[in-house]
Amino acid sequence: MNASFLVSPSLRGWFAASELAPHIETFVERLVRDGYSCRTAANHVDSVAHFARWMSRTRLKVERLDEGAIQRFLDRHLPRCDCPPPVHRNRRDLSAGCHLLLRVLRDQGIVPAPMAKTDHVKEELCRFDEHMRCARGLCEGTWRSFRLRRDQGDCALHGVVARAFRTRLGPHDEVADE
Ligand SMILES: [Zn+2]
Repeated sequence: MNASFLVSPSLRGWFAASELAPHIETFVERLVRDGYSCRTAANHVDSVAHFARWMSRTRLKVERLDEGAIQRFLDRHLPRCDCPPPVHRNRRDLSAGCHLLLRVLRDQGIVPAPMAKTDHVKEELCRFDEHMRCARGLCEGTWRSFRLRRDQGDCALHGVVARAFRTRLGPHDEVADE
């Protein structure tokens, strides 16, 4: 499908100069397939054109696109935006268009899926495990018992263990017990 019917001629240059250029057709196809009216779809495309311009100016790679990047665009760029007409500046529209774009790019495998919150926690715990086991030479049996209780949701455990380790590690190498 030729996406040009939804892209305003004055905004084509913004897409062409950005990393989104190869993906705009897919984006428009998705809007059409999902049943958006022409007007709403064109609104999303205009919003994404503004985002494309910002991406070019900040040299943001498409694979680095995520919710944080959209937030920076909306919170930092938009209030000071001096992009030339016919730039689209409605925050709600921009947010909707950018998040829709992100979803389409993730569905296409262009942008990696977000790391789940639980993965972040697991990652931190793994690093902490490794640190305590290797760097601190903690006895494997003691550590296994701690991990078991922690994994079973013993919330009070962290404070207890932190205090124990603080004694063991000395005053300059504490483990926070917050
Ligand atoms: Zn702008």
